[in-house]
Amino acid sequence: MDYMSGTKEILFLEPKFVERVWGGNRLATEFQYHLQSDRIGECWAVSAHENGESVVKRGLYQGKTLSSLWQEHRELFGNIDLDKFPLLVKLIDARETSSIQVHPDNAYVKAQGLEGLGKTECWYVVDCPENATLVIGHNAHTKEELSQMVNAGQWNDLLKEVPVKQGDFIQIEAGVLHTIEAGFIVYETQQNSDITYRFYDYGRKIDGQKRELHIKECLDVTLVPDKTSEKRIISTQDMVANEMHELICCDSYQVWKMDVTRPVTIEQKYPFLVMSVLDGEGLIDGAKLCKGDHLILPFGYGKAQIQGTLKLMMSSVPVQETAGGSGSVR
Ligand code: ZN
Repeated sequence: MDYMSGTKEILFLEPKFVERVWGGNRLATEFQYHLQSDRIGECWAVSAHENGESVVKRGLYQGKTLSSLWQEHRELFGNIDLDKFPLLVKLIDARETSSIQVHPDNAYVKAQGLEGLGKTECWYVVDCPENATLVIGHNAHTKEELSQMVNAGQWNDLLKEVPVKQGDFIQIEAGVLHTIEAGFIVYETQQNSDITYRFYDYGRKIDGQKRELHIKECLDVTLVPDKTSEKRIISTQDMVANEMHELICCDSYQVWKMDVTRPVTIEQKYPFLVMSVLDGEGLIDGAKLCKGDHLILPFGYGKAQIQGTLKLMMSSVPVQETAGGSGSVR
């Protein structure tokens, strides 16, 4: 087989697609996915979440879900001691602005007796309109002020708008209020969680019904005062090609970007390495890579030869920093 290194096989994944009221059709038109709906908001590209699971496309594990590999073949992921595959990687197409939302952290989820994890996420801006902005953070100084402004619907005064351009990378910690604006395509790496609390949904109706808001939870989990600012946006446009550039390393994940313009070798020395092709085409150890492909290089894969013209995003979990043994490689 050509897509192997020693006995380690690359896991090529078939994504799952999720309809959203604010979704569009650009994942079909620009990423060549075959979609049945023109309201696909999210491609769950690398997912072991029960709400939409990736399945292995070919090879030894063809047809297996990522979560079943996690349960039965933990050696593929460096035998990490965690209940669930820790990451969820998505492509997001917002034809309309998404709700004004916030996600809880792990502690809040646990305290509420909910299943799963909190959600810290990060975005790479694949595409956006000229002179675009995103809502990231808010202007309230105290919880009382936040609550008053939310109840009075003073969204213009409350929301912090930040200028953003194509190729920007943004970290959104749990507790940070945010939206994705109309016209954005975003590549998101996040904790494996599907818990979203909605502050405001622009009065939108689906089949005559407004979507549920979660004002109490929103007020509980939103960080006040907000410490977000332009400085949490990393510009990747001028990064040198053919090198892995670390964009973030936090408790939940590590993310890299690499543009490939000539044959290059990378070393897979992490518990696992998620890789997504955001543009171009090429080869990895002889296997074809196309825009919209998502794969995992398993534990112990070692060196991978990549060639072609490619824009790649990669992710894994930090190993040393995690306390209490979880996340360590046995
Ligand atoms: Zn979010």
